[in-house]
Amino acid sequence: MTADFPPPRYVGTRGAHPVDFRTATLSGLAPDGGLFMPDRWPDAAGRIRRLAGAPYAETAAHLLTELGGDSLPPAAAAELAADAYRAFTHPDVAPVRELRDGLHLLELFHGPTLAFKDFALQVLARLFDRFLELDGRRALVLCATSGDTGAAAIEACRGRRAMAIVVLHPEGRIAPLQRRLMTTVDDPAVFNVAIEGTFDSCQSLVKQAFSDRALRRACGLLAVNSINWSRIAAQAAYYIHAAHQVGGPPPVFAVPSGNFGDCYAGHAAACMGLPVAGLVVGTNRNDILARFFATGRYHPGTVHRTLSPAMDIQVASNFERLLYEIRDRDGGAVQRDMAGLARGEAIAVDERHRATIGERFTGSRVTEDQTIDTMRDLRDACGIQIDPHTAVGVAAARQAGALDSQYRATSAPVVALATAHPAKFPDAVRQALGEEPEVPDPLARCMDAPERLTTLPADYARLADHLRRAAATAAEHAR
Ligand SMILES: *Cc1c(COP(=O)(O)O)cnc(C)c1O
Repeated sequence: MTADFPPPRYVGTRGAHPVDFRTATLSGLAPDGGLFMPDRWPDAAGRIRRLAGAPYAETAAHLLTELGGDSLPPAAAAELAADAYRAFTHPDVAPVRELRDGLHLLELFHGPTLAFKDFALQVLARLFDRFLELDGRRALVLCATSGDTGAAAIEACRGRRAMAIVVLHPEGRIAPLQRRLMTTVDDPAVFNVAIEGTFDSCQSLVKQAFSDRALRRACGLLAVNSINWSRIAAQAAYYIHAAHQVGGPPPVFAVPSGNFGDCYAGHAAACMGLPVAGLVVGTNRNDILARFFATGRYHPGTVHRTLSPAMDIQVASNFERLLYEIRDRDGGAVQRDMAGLARGEAIAVDERHRATIGERFTGSRVTEDQTIDTMRDLRDACGIQIDPHTAVGVAAARQAGALDSQYRATSAPVVALATAHPAKFPDAVRQALGEEPEVPDPLARCMDAPERLTTLPADYARLADHLRRAAATAAEHAR
């Protein structure tokens, strides 16, 4: 099947000229320093309607075809999506469960690392592999992690033909469970490095590596950025799949948000024709997004540690995509906004634009107490454990008036995105519920398996040496 309209091309939010999907995927960041955006939204309303009842991988494949154009022929997209979601442990991949009258939970934690980042990274790694192979190139994926992303990236990159992966984590500073999810992966192309330093040291080493041109060329360094366009493309699929499963009138989605990628994918689905009643942007105490939707001013604050650490962020990278649309796709205006932000100035949006985005988005900030109360309420009322990130989304929906005090939908059905399995955050579960989370198989297994990792000082020369050797070892194995 071909797309109903010519596929989009990808422009930079700060004015870069359009490129195709393949170039946008392999580049991650646009050459103007901004993010890639489709030059227009494909009108896929008819196709989306016809996907009602389709298996998850089919929905994902259609969306990738719609957005990928010539870079990804339909047969290739179908094969890629089927393969990406094959290892998910639930037959429906992204099942929806009704908890209360009109409150639904969209379970995004049945992937290999039990969190929703698997949905995007399993696709991104396969796209990389495909595009690299077509070019006859190899690549070494390099990233730093303080928790979830590293494990999801490793699970996505293992076993790929053209890639190896090196993940840096700060020694002794990540939860043992998070570390074990990475270090127990037994694959000759997966390299874990514990850096004697903080997460910031890890990030700064990664930056140094990417600015070392000789090393970049020698290893073919590649980033699994949270701002890669294809991650958004992959995530939009579960909004469509969930809306079809719920049926009836268009739903409100409640989205626990940090970098704003997940929520932006819901917006993208709506822009392509999925009927959506609204998007509730739930934040923890790190509330830059909630403040923006309430006031029209975007201004970072200081980062606080919370029970929902994957959202302890004060710069929401994907916000730049929405800003580009608010500025009527004027790259120069976004460039000026971002330069001002770098100087410490706020980005301000006028009342007319704020009213327009307010028709789709509602921001809501959730306290630690509300997070705990919500976890407890849902356990008591519905007998289920939810993770603290998911709780932020549910509490935000209630605060925004989409749910009543008994968590019943007030008008439209509510779909709360369950972004992680509660077992990934055992301390929060213990604190909120006074009980242990049930530990699913993949986690139980990694608690016993042997760990493989190298410890290095926070020294760039030592890391560079290690990266060269990792790339060579992986290439050797691939032959
Ligand atoms: C990354 C993450 C989020 C936040 O998603 P964004 O796309 O960054 O807004 C929420 N919950 C969990 C469990 C996550 O890992």
